[in-house]
Amino acid sequence: MGLAAIYLRLSRNEEHLDIDEILTNHRNALIKLSKQQKLTYDIYQEISSGVNTERPQLNLLLSRLDDYDALLVMDIDRISRDNAHAEEIKKMLILHDIKILTPQGAIDLSQESNEMLFSFQAMMANFEYKQIRKRLGRGRLAAAEQGKWTMSNRIPLGYKKNEDKRLEIVEDEAKIIRHIFQKTLERVSANEIAKQLDMLGWRSRQGKVLTSSHISQIRKNPVYYGVIQACRRVNGRVVDEVFVENAHSGIVSKQTFLEVQKMLEENSQDKFFHKLKATRRLQNLIYCNCCGRKRYLQCDGNGVEFIKSCSYKIDNNVCQDRGHKYLSIEKFVLQKVKERKTDFEQALKKLKSLDTTDVEKKLAIQRESLNKQLEKLNKRQRNLKEMRMDGEITKNDFYEMRDENEEQIRQVQQQIELIDIQLENLSNTDEEQQRLEDTIRTLDKLDELESEPCNTFLKTFIKKIWFSSNTEANHDTTRERKAATIKIEWL
Ligand SMILES: [Zn+2]
Repeated sequence: MGLAAIYLRLSRNEEHLDIDEILTNHRNALIKLSKQQKLTYDIYQEISSGVNTERPQLNLLLSRLDDYDALLVMDIDRISRDNAHAEEIKKMLILHDIKILTPQGAIDLSQESNEMLFSFQAMMANFEYKQIRKRLGRGRLAAAEQGKWTMSNRIPLGYKKNEDKRLEIVEDEAKIIRHIFQKTLERVSANEIAKQLDMLGWRSRQGKVLTSSHISQIRKNPVYYGVIQACRRVNGRVVDEVFVENAHSGIVSKQTFLEVQKMLEENSQDKFFHKLKATRRLQNLIYCNCCGRKRYLQCDGNGVEFIKSCSYKIDNNVCQDRGHKYLSIEKFVLQKVKERKTDFEQALKKLKSLDTTDVEKKLAIQRESLNKQLEKLNKRQRNLKEMRMDGEITKNDFYEMRDENEEQIRQVQQQIELIDIQLENLSNTDEEQQRLEDTIRTLDKLDELESEPCNTFLKTFIKKIWFSSNTEANHDTTRERKAATIKIEWL
């Protein structure tokens, strides 16, 4: 049996969460891990405050490295935020042949590939905001589980947050939400509902006009029938999800909400409303650089395509940005898009240089051995039943051994799940490589692409194209035209 050092560190930055509770959770997780690994342990823990970089407990631990076989931490970044320091500690750990264990897996520094992993993770940990978000994520998820509103400060229209951090209906706003759901059930389009709300003078909390896109978001949001949902992502992948019904009073009933979802689903399949197809390459991508509204495309009587002049009117503010011939704009944008090719090629090269085969191999071996463990445990479970049936063990012994065995099965299954997640994360870079390769290939034959697939392709990396003709629309056609503005906002 080996001896482990458990190192726990929390920073004061996390104080709006219950720091004692987090510390207890972390400690329990690591004690559990040491038991799984059949290690006895010493605990070192400290709470650091922002600027203070002194870590007396860590230093004490490092001075006793001779005593230990393993170091148990929650995240690798708990050891040190500072790259040079991390590097120094790493050398000390290698010298003393100490393994690092985290609930996410083991890191054996004597193996080169792991050394790479350690450096890589320590580097990642330096992106402090990422880690803070991750930790916040855990606390946020726990609060969401209790039905509390834990998302950004933007509380959904129709609600306010009470002292208990739960959502409470604001009747004045709730009537807007009810109207939106009711009218949707009557098959009124989002556009039409927006007009009605505007006429009623019903605005957002900031006094702004509610647009059809607001309305589309509102009627898909389950918060309105009493749901709190939250998720935690690691590397963009959802690793934990919370969905609590009856967390607060709904503004609409669950039935109404579900009916509306069904209707919207049918709507998206073109059964109820006519949906415009992309007939031009830049369809739905051009926005007014003066007022921010979408710009529309049109064909004139001679078959020449135009960006229509902007005539957005709200209260006394009128945008009158003049129209422009469309094709020259399209040509300009496509040229800019082609120039992005080198960017994509560089990104691809960078991805390819991140070789993950070693890590992959190691994970596969771990998985294999866990599978064997699982087989063994399942067999033991069957044997226990037989022994009990044959009267070889007492009922109490049976229950005790069975529970213990089941607990072990559960733990092994969890470890297997974790490895599967890690493996999948690795293969995500494969997908990203594939995506970049496809993009580069498509760029090469961009001119041959039909309007619609081209439009879809452009939307995968262009967010908006900001356009202005920089001329006011009026009937004087003799004026000299100024150069147009075209800015591409990349995703
Ligand atoms: Zn405009």
